[in-house]
Amino acid sequence: MTLKLAVLPGDGIGPEVTRQAVRVLRAVTEGKLELQVEELPIGGNAVKKFGAPLPDETLQKCLASDAVFLGAVGGPEFDSLPRAQKPETGLLAIRKALGGFANLRPAVAYGALAACSPLRPEVLRGADILFVRELLGGAYFGEPRGFAQRDGVETGFNNMVYSVPEIERVAHVAFQVARGRRKKVTSIDKANVLEVSQLWRRVVIEVAKQYPDVTLEHQLVDSAAMRLVTAPASFDVVVTENLFGDILSDEAAALTGSLGMLPSATVGGKINFYEPIHGSAPDIAGKGIANPLGAIATAAMILRYTANCEQEARSIEQAILAVLDSGCRTADLKRAANERLVSTEEMGRLVLEAIDKAKSRPTHA
Ligand code: NAD
Repeated sequence: MTLKLAVLPGDGIGPEVTRQAVRVLRAVTEGKLELQVEELPIGGNAVKKFGAPLPDETLQKCLASDAVFLGAVGGPEFDSLPRAQKPETGLLAIRKALGGFANLRPAVAYGALAACSPLRPEVLRGADILFVRELLGGAYFGEPRGFAQRDGVETGFNNMVYSVPEIERVAHVAFQVARGRRKKVTSIDKANVLEVSQLWRRVVIEVAKQYPDVTLEHQLVDSAAMRLVTAPASFDVVVTENLFGDILSDEAAALTGSLGMLPSATVGGKINFYEPIHGSAPDIAGKGIANPLGAIATAAMILRYTANCEQEARSIEQAILAVLDSGCRTADLKRAANERLVSTEEMGRLVLEAIDKAKSRPTHA
């Protein structure tokens, strides 16, 4: 099998972290699939070279690939560019062109990083949540929207709108991914107040009937926000609409302690789109100190959700755990004097070594 991967390193630390992730991908897929990687420009560097944040060649090659992997875009030197040339304009355009409607964001509490979390270790222990956020509907896209004079008073308004098919398709994604995990879905809504949430809940219950092996529960968004900080380990897969998902997945990200650790995947469109959740971190770019583990964990998601290589995906995730357990830390993770400070490149190498070590370890029946 061949995996055609369009890699968009982007700006700032994007190239530094994607380099390590691709290195790990190559090693872990060797002999299993043929990895064809093409690096393409996007963001500020694309503006500098080609005058556009998403050159047409990049777009066309992404559309002809099996998966797209982005580092990050943006930086202060591009902030004053006109809107059409801003790096973020390129990012929004590629997301739109690929058309994914479900954003998957795992938030895993690594025991070794307990000191990085704002939560007490005993509260955080065991937290391993996968957010499935609806990405193309809800208040961000609902019509009508805008400003109006109402009874002589200036008013702003948006509409949280969902149709049955929009809810069905994201619910199916949640139940399917739950099957590969602990088989529990929590659907988050505000059904005690919002009609759109009442429809959401009704449709999710209908879809659940096709997945009798998966447990479904419902929770109101306000109590879910509390439960995330009081009992995060009680969640497995969380499915929710766009605005609630935007807020709650950031809350969950903060619990895990470092932005540099978190991967994401956007699925359901023409081509899946993968990116670590962090930005281009201009404050540390070029110093070789960025944490590549979010990008490396994103590589695991490519293997799981596009290449169907679950075992290889897990071997990457277990290697990340092993490296953290061994006390190695990039600067953003280092808290204790006995932890060993490592560079971006060294962290990539340590993950590779941990994968090799696990491969050569005899398996016990
Ligand atoms: P950021 O995520 O780039 O950085 C926030 C803080 O976290 C910084 O202190 C940074 O050093 C640190 N950090 C982030 N990733 C890290 C990593 N892998 N290792 C170690 N430390 C890490 O967010 P920001 O500062 O708000 O934005 C910087 C630029 O990135 C802006 O131009 C913004 O528009 C852009 N941005 C891009 C994306 C994307 O490409 N998907 C996402 C968010 C922000």
